Amino acid sequence: MKVCWSITSKCNRNCRYCFRFNRQDLSLKENEKVLDSLFKMGVKKISWTGGEPFLYDDLPILLKKSKEYGIINSVNTNLTTVDLDNLKDKIKNVDRLIISLDFISDALNEKYGIGKDYYKHVSKILKRVKQIKPDIILQLNTVLFSGNINYMDGLYKEICKYDIDYWKIIRFLPIRGKAYEEKNNLSIEDDQFEKILTRFKQKKQHFKIIIHGLKEMEKKHIIVLSSGKLIYSENGKDKEIKSLI
Ligand code: SF4
Repeated sequence: MKVCWSITSKCNRNCRYCFRFNRQDLSLKENEKVLDSLFKMGVKKISWTGGEPFLYDDLPILLKKSKEYGIINSVNTNLTTVDLDNLKDKIKNVDRLIISLDFISDALNEKYGIGKDYYKHVSKILKRVKQIKPDIILQLNTVLFSGNINYMDGLYKEICKYDIDYWKIIRFLPIRGKAYEEKNNLSIEDDQFEKILTRFKQKKQHFKIIIHGLKEMEKKHIIVLSSGKLIYSENGKDKEIKSLI
């Protein structure tokens, strides 16, 4: 069983398509109880998200404990708290590192909220990750929306320079939060999405492209909120199941 754990709602960026939850964080002790519950439920994979998961200071402790339980850890990050000095420690218990990347342009990264020098920073770290940990799975995630749909070829060309394993293109989904408010500005049409799907499915490169559209969204996702609540999210609707603490 796989769960997505939003360990914190905090983030130091302000992406216009963000659909994160907004809940209080728990203490380390409380989150250790949540992790114990997930292990007992038979969870084998955790995708750690946020907000920005590395802003939860005790994340390394939880990642270590999770590994000791034999759980596979993925971390979805904007890398803003990661630098070349702390990279080795940050990825020590990470099996799959998933990095957000929507633009290579400083101006567009600034305009859409992740920050002006974002790509330069990501580029620097991307070049080092596999040198430090050769067996890590490295993935880039791109949210496909009205702001970057015309820049996808340039982004693809740039991404081909890096030693990554996956590039996931996720259709913008205005399901909650800021993303919902920006629904009319950022959404793309079905035919625009289909064109991207067809074009990128045909491409051949050293990494695999995963395309995530509405069909994938219809599937049931199990999410743990930063408050310790377990929810099912299906078709853009969230249903609270129980508290894990
Ligand atoms: S999309 Fe990710 S990086 Fe951007 S504001 Fe939301 S949590 Fe932060």
